[in-house]
Amino acid sequence: MPAVTELERMLRGAFLRVTRPRVAVLAAVHDHPHADTQSILGVVRQVLGEVSQQTVYDVLHALTDAGLVRRIHPPDSVARYESRVGDNHHHVVCRACGAIADVDCAAGTAPCLTPADDHGFAIDEADVVYRGLCPDCSTERVTTRVR
Ligand SMILES: [Zn+2]
Ligand SMILES: [Zn+2]
Repeated sequence: MPAVTELERMLRGAFLRVTRPRVAVLAAVHDHPHADTQSILGVVRQVLGEVSQQTVYDVLHALTDAGLVRRIHPPDSVARYESRVGDNHHHVVCRACGAIADVDCAAGTAPCLTPADDHGFAIDEADVVYRGLCPDCSTERVTTRVR
């Protein structure tokens, strides 16, 4: 996790006032990539004590709007947040347990933003989700089969 001074610098750099909830939420997203709002709330409560769900929602919105965190919507999942922003990377999602991992752009420097036909849209984001089984779940299946 980046130092608190670093987190404060990020907030100021995005023209956001430095508040304890903002620092705590930003730290939680850095520490727990792809966490959902409930998990982030749990982590923030460990740090700040009582804090309302609405506060955490509002902070996540402000941080997302400011480009400090990225909101992703994996299939069959609530929104999740990550601090790896700006590189338009993709995700691989486990069909069995829902584990999520980062996948770099399929062909290099954001070529996914250059589709064969853009239909005249000014495209600034591509959302590719790879699905399969994570190592834990695929191992489990093999073991079950052997038995
Ligand atoms: Zn899995
Ligand atoms: Zn990611």
